[in-house]
Amino acid sequence: MSAGLVQAAYIVAAVLFIMSLAGLSKQESARAGNYYGITGMAIALIATIFSPDSSGIAWILVAMVIGGGIGIHYAKKVEMTEMPELVAILHSFVGMAAVLVAYNSYIDHGELTGAMLNIHLVEVFLGVFIGAVTFTGSIVAFCKLRGLISSSALNLPHKHKMNLAAVVVSTLLMIHFVNVEGSMFALIVMTLIAFVFGYHLVASIGGADMPVVVSMLNSYSGWAAAAAGFMLANDLLIVTGALVGSSGAILSYIMCKAMNRSFISVIAGGFGQEVTVSSGDEEQGEHRETSAEDVADTLKNSKSVIITPGYGMAVAQAQYPVHEITEKLRAQGVNVRFGIHPVAGRLPGHMNVLLAEAKVPYDIVLEMDELNDDFGETDTVLVIGANDTVNPAAIDDPNSPIAGMPVLEVWNAKDVIVFKRSMNTGYAGVQNPLFFKDNTQMLFGDAKASCLSILEHL
Ligand code: NDP
Repeated sequence: MSAGLVQAAYIVAAVLFIMSLAGLSKQESARAGNYYGITGMAIALIATIFSPDSSGIAWILVAMVIGGGIGIHYAKKVEMTEMPELVAILHSFVGMAAVLVAYNSYIDHGELTGAMLNIHLVEVFLGVFIGAVTFTGSIVAFCKLRGLISSSALNLPHKHKMNLAAVVVSTLLMIHFVNVEGSMFALIVMTLIAFVFGYHLVASIGGADMPVVVSMLNSYSGWAAAAAGFMLANDLLIVTGALVGSSGAILSYIMCKAMNRSFISVIAGGFGQEVTVSSGDEEQGEHRETSAEDVADTLKNSKSVIITPGYGMAVAQAQYPVHEITEKLRAQGVNVRFGIHPVAGRLPGHMNVLLAEAKVPYDIVLEMDELNDDFGETDTVLVIGANDTVNPAAIDDPNSPIAGMPVLEVWNAKDVIVFKRSMNTGYAGVQNPLFFKDNTQMLFGDAKASCLSILEHL
């Protein structure tokens, strides 16, 4: 393939990536957005493999078949509830790839001299730094999301000073690295610091702020790819990395605003946040239990119902019977709507994807802000596997780790039914005073089984 044709293919791929992002911004066009992205990536890969700069095509193809095979195998096996973990571990691969590309480009930097060499060394240094932070940060995020380590924040003494020291020392090492025209020792020391820094940065962030961390790591992985693009002089990698980096940063900013969190504070490992201790997991009074039959009766006597799904609905795969309950109630003239919290579940838009999968009509699926004032006039709220996102402690307890985060104010409804399996806490690890309110009843059991049982009695 000629160099001109490769450039033309890169421009087409870049346009398709932009169209993909535009498509993904709306539910109706998300599927098309995915196809644009897949087509763009296929064009980019073919153009890169057959470009005049490529050599050892047989090796590339062997690596692609092995890597692609492993990818297809795991992507087929992964459950919807495991998607955030998959995304986190994929970010770690991008981070490690940037580190390896940077080391390779440092060892084999050709004939560069003077200013060009200095620019190249800065690219190498930043590529390794961003890649290493992304790598260990994403592994910690993976472990937290998978429950391999606690989701609560690691609070080492002087943690912010340690983070600052890591940045200052790395900057000094970069100045030294450029001054001596490349020192392997400085590069290795900085790599180790960046690995520890990435680990500590994400470990210091509490469970409730993990959504922002996941999208921040997405952004970092984009910048790591862009850095690799500069080192490889590959325009498409720079454009693609910048698209991922900036869209991830915008998403993180939107999520911070939705959760009333400071963007800077979250990305700086919880900088400026008070260390909170109250609202542990101890129970705060008596809770009342109900049965599927009683819930069915309550629903039959309701005029308006709001369903607020959370992570537990995803675990139980309860979206299908939830849809059937919705259809039955709507057929009987009940006004049924869904209230979606911006961070419900374990990845942005998690609940919307599940409900769309079960064919719940889009027009009854509303954002938190669109219906938070309506709970007062609602007869029954079904809280299906949600916990942190309906926790009144966020409003009432200034010392709670989730203080200040907007929540679905379900307790204002006449009756609230909470579907869960036990009195365990949600992801943020704090008890929920909602469960002990007079108008709340607990329906214990797997959410899917509970919904199927309600359906039988409707
Ligand atoms: P939570 O994680 O707070 O609570 C989930 C609830 O579901 C638990 O109370 C659990 O209780 C229940 N549950 C689990 N499995 C089942 C089941 N099979 N049947 C019935 N109930 C079940 O969920 P929310 O969606 O309310 O909140 C999301 C939390 O995750 C927030 O803290 C958010 O910050 C965080 N987060 C969100 C991300 C995002 O991008 N959206 C990313 C990372 C974290 P029990 O065990 O007793 O059944």
